[in-house]
Amino acid sequence: MNETRSCVDCGILNCRSREKEYPDFCLTTGLSEETIEKVRHLYEEEENNRVSVVSAQIEDEFYREYTRVEEVIEFARRMGYAKIGIATCIGLIEESRILARILRKKGFEVYGAVCKIGSFPKTDFGVSEEYITKTGAFMCNPIMQAEVLNQAGTELNVVMGLCVGHDSLFYKYSEALVTTLVAKDRVLAHNPVGALYQANAYYKKLTAEE
Ligand code: SF4
Repeated sequence: MNETRSCVDCGILNCRSREKEYPDFCLTTGLSEETIEKVRHLYEEEENNRVSVVSAQIEDEFYREYTRVEEVIEFARRMGYAKIGIATCIGLIEESRILARILRKKGFEVYGAVCKIGSFPKTDFGVSEEYITKTGAFMCNPIMQAEVLNQAGTELNVVMGLCVGHDSLFYKYSEALVTTLVAKDRVLAHNPVGALYQANAYYKKLTAEE
């Protein structure tokens, strides 16, 4: 194999338990003192520290008990957030309405922005006519979603099924921390990992198309 090996090539995963030997290409043993200190220092920053402590508590306390919706609620509650943003795909607006109802019932203020906000024509931004036949003329606008939620002062933003790439722009421009509740997969009921659980068949299909 010519590629540089990394964690995805490791069968030992010793960093989890320290009960075995690290592999010779291990990323943990290869870390420089400088990198370790840099990252340790980042965890001392107040928000980073609080997020890591709270999420570790929730993970351990409700392990295999809480759904992701419950984890989001618990995380927001323990972080002391009052106002939650929802950045939703228009195709998941009904699911987002349910989420908003639940969050409001739990005492949070909710503010949602749908992906088509601003109603910008795709063709204004360089998308040619041939690419608007199935999905319509108005573009997903994740930067506007982030901007509107930033202006509303949301303290945690929840992504509901933004498309690949659109989600990246939303993460890039959101001022509040973001968590993803729904990762869009139109083929697999928004359960993208399903493709990987069919690993052999899926790998064959993808590599055959190359
Ligand atoms: S850090 Fe080392 S032990 Fe952990 S997964 Fe990566 S290569 Fe394996």
